[in-house]
Amino acid sequence: MSQTFEFKTEVRKLLHIITHSLYTNREIFLRELVSNASDALDKLRFAQAKGEAVNAPELELGIDISIDKEAKTITIRDTGIGMTREELVDNLGTIARSGSERFLKELSEKQEDPGNIIGRFGVGFYSVFMIADKVEVTTRSARGDEAATTWVSDGLGSFEVIPCEEGAPERGTVITIHVKDEADEFLEKFRLQSILKKHSSFIPFPIQLEGERV
Ligand code: ADP
Ligand code: MG
Repeated sequence: MSQTFEFKTEVRKLLHIITHSLYTNREIFLRELVSNASDALDKLRFAQAKGEAVNAPELELGIDISIDKEAKTITIRDTGIGMTREELVDNLGTIARSGSERFLKELSEKQEDPGNIIGRFGVGFYSVFMIADKVEVTTRSARGDEAATTWVSDGLGSFEVIPCEEGAPERGTVITIHVKDEADEFLEKFRLQSILKKHSSFIPFPIQLEGERV
């Protein structure tokens, strides 16, 4: 069953700023999503090292990025720890994170480009709305037998959570970014490649871009 949730007030304010500002540094969305994927893979590796049973243990640990120019989407998948439905709702919208308050405060005091500082406040996921007009997050937890869930939002006031029927990952998270017209430079492979080289060169897991190791 599909369910709609309102973003927590601080998150809504933060998203309002993100979707209504002009940036010089939109490219950091990719660093933030890759860093989240890497964190998720770290958690998976840690669980395995402790001897915890995880779903699809044979799946390799890695990050895969692909572009669909016709659909105007970028897709980022990881085979990390994933999220249960409850974690998804909490982590991406309903639990206020201490960082969002501080981020808003610093923005109002220092007139900084949000793109330059967002990563410091533990609210990096939302930076994707600098380049997206819609984002889908489909995720399946490495723990337990819960099926995959999809989170969908346009980054305005609310998000929707839907049981995933098709194309669910065996484990981990798939993020589909619907790229805004004015951000279509990010649909170019060479552009993403250079961003990855600049910001994500120390990620300790293999990253594939359009089937090629970065
Ligand atoms: P931070 O990474 O600093 O915690 P973010 O806004 O980047 O803040 O992400 C919010 C939360 O969403 C993360 O802490 C994590 O719990 C969850 N999350 C985001 N991306 C993923 C992912 N690819 N796999 C699993 N969990 C994720
Ligand atoms: Mg993050």
